[in-house]
Amino acid sequence: MATSSRTRPPRAKNTTGRDIVIVDMDGTIADATRREREFLLKPRKKNWPGFFRDMELDPPIPAIFNHVMKLSRKYDIIILTGRPEKYRPQTERWLKKHKVPAERVLMRRKGDSRPDYEAKTDLLRELKESLLGRKIVLALDDREPVCAEYTKLGVKCIPVASSAANQLINEAYREMAG
Ligand SMILES: [Mg+2]
Repeated sequence: MATSSRTRPPRAKNTTGRDIVIVDMDGTIADATRREREFLLKPRKKNWPGFFRDMELDPPIPAIFNHVMKLSRKYDIIILTGRPEKYRPQTERWLKKHKVPAERVLMRRKGDSRPDYEAKTDLLRELKESLLGRKIVLALDDREPVCAEYTKLGVKCIPVASSAANQLINEAYREMAG
């Protein structure tokens, strides 16, 4: 059916049936501030290719990253990011390199240029429908508008940090979603 890829979330891999913690990438576990500064804020003209190329070099944000690793002993981690689907290989390589045991990675779909809080909330809604009794105990995201929408869906969300730069990233991903 033509509608299947838009309406159905990706099938889970290695499901253990444990409860779930949702984790965002940029500004939550991955620190994008260097490439923001270098490619978006400093140059007179924004260097998008450089910004995206260096995604894999982002260091982890230690406090949150370590907390997520601790949570992963008890819960399954599902990554939910506003990064466009086309950056899945880079995102999965980063998670593997840093040994984040992500059960699955949910990403902004091709052609979805809506704000992150809309795109991500739809992914969360679909995920909730697919969980067969497993609970989402917590979400971690650096963007207040995203957390506000998750909360409306009944998912407890901790806004881990917030900055103007994170808004800039959101805009970039919307543009690159096509
Ligand atoms: Mg973020």
